[in-house]
Amino acid sequence: MSSQQYRSTRSTQPETFSFEETVITGLASDGGLFLPSVIPQVSLETLKEWSNLSFQDLAHEIMKLYISNDEIPESDLKDLIQASYSTFRSTEITPLVPLIESKNLYLLELFHGPTFAFKDVALQFVGNLFEYFLKRKNSKLDENSKERHKITVVGATSGDTGSAAIYGLRGKKDVSVFILYPTNRISSIQELQMTSVLDANVHCLSVLGTFDDCQDIVKTLFRDKEFNDKYHIGAINSINWARILAQITYYFYSFFKLNKNLDINKKIKYVVPSGNFGDVLAGYFAKKMGLPIEKLVIATNENDILDRFMKTGKYQKESVGVKSTLSPAMDILISSNFERLLWYLIKDNLTNNNDLEAGKVLNDWMVSLKENNLIEAPSEVLKAALKDFDSERVSNEETLETIKEIYQVAEKYILDPHTSVGVTSSLRHIQKDEQNNEQKYYISLSTAHPAKFADAVNEALEENKGYNFDNDVLPEELKSLGKEGRRVTFVDDNSVSEVKKVIIEKLAEENKI
Ligand SMILES: *Cc1c(COP(=O)(O)O)cnc(C)c1O
Repeated sequence: MSSQQYRSTRSTQPETFSFEETVITGLASDGGLFLPSVIPQVSLETLKEWSNLSFQDLAHEIMKLYISNDEIPESDLKDLIQASYSTFRSTEITPLVPLIESKNLYLLELFHGPTFAFKDVALQFVGNLFEYFLKRKNSKLDENSKERHKITVVGATSGDTGSAAIYGLRGKKDVSVFILYPTNRISSIQELQMTSVLDANVHCLSVLGTFDDCQDIVKTLFRDKEFNDKYHIGAINSINWARILAQITYYFYSFFKLNKNLDINKKIKYVVPSGNFGDVLAGYFAKKMGLPIEKLVIATNENDILDRFMKTGKYQKESVGVKSTLSPAMDILISSNFERLLWYLIKDNLTNNNDLEAGKVLNDWMVSLKENNLIEAPSEVLKAALKDFDSERVSNEETLETIKEIYQVAEKYILDPHTSVGVTSSLRHIQKDEQNNEQKYYISLSTAHPAKFADAVNEALEENKGYNFDNDVLPEELKSLGKEGRRVTFVDDNSVSEVKKVIIEKLAEENKI
């Protein structure tokens, strides 16, 4: 039984926070990200015991180590996990499928949740956590009491996060959700996925402007103390610790599928299409807990700050701005979760394993990033990072090439462009390892269903005779989207005050129902 607490990456004090605080607030008040006070260690014995568990039971064993029993009793946690994965279309939740068996290349399919993207694995769970904490706070209050604690979740999306958040929170009592997206700048399927959800607590705001405009509005709302105090703004963006936690499970689960006997001679690399560094960070936690992963390969698109760091030790924000690529969910300038890895690297390599000193050094680094757009890590830090990580950068051209190639060589398997960035990186590693006469195994994470990114997939495959998007790619569930109606509010004045006005109006309408 654990009594896990959390601390902020930027804190120089011994203060700790509960799991509930980390989930509800998302970000620490000093601007840092929450981390567990200790990373729980799992012995080989325990790994053996876990190797036959279902996804849900495994998630329970892992999460128990990060959430104190006196915060969420184990049986409640079990129910939360069951509910969260009951919406998935695969009984295995995240199945591991062979892609090219002769090369030991496997795909970990993470897109079997309600919105067909890997973010569901975390956001279904986070939605249930929000509901659970609110229910408990409101348990003594009447249904219509004015005293009830409520949360207004506000987020900006360039596509995947918005729909996954909406499906995680739809219909939840005492939670309202507002998702801002740039008008005409997300794919039509992504827009349909959001606007076809008709629950009264879900509000899509189509904002005339860019994704950055949407994000700026959201950031301003978070800093608006008066608004926040009144409407209790909640965040579910990728820095929320509960999202990382939920993603740890599939590293263990897929490892056991490929290496049931825990044969230590079987070297397994995980290849992870990366943007904000949340997905691959979950793999880092799995490794640090004791799962014998050989290497975590960070696969980036042309927005390659992570790849450049792994090659030079310089974490440098590009001045030209973010590039639009075929894998838009990875189009970032800075990876927000990278701060978490930096904290561990500092603590283990530049301090004498001291949390408070690590917070101090990290603060200096974050100031440098803010002022000079640059962090320069000393060589011992880079060396330590390269023990766990490797990295690749993949161009748009290569992304399309690999979708084509895999369609040819892997029985018409169709990759989405994000997954293709990962598979391209996997193929490079396979070639390198073969040249060195090393036999290894590769688990490439598949982060989205190809139907969500029709343009890229069609561009890659339309030359193939007989290929047809509607027949070969589009799942039934997505064909009927929107048939029962759509709801969206257009905001043509992209100002903070206008968005505030809309939020207040919609909340008032909801309270009348
Ligand atoms: C969000 C997302 C990613 C990137 O994951 P991070 O945790 O931000 O690194 C990759 N692929 C898809 C399809 C995504 O939606």
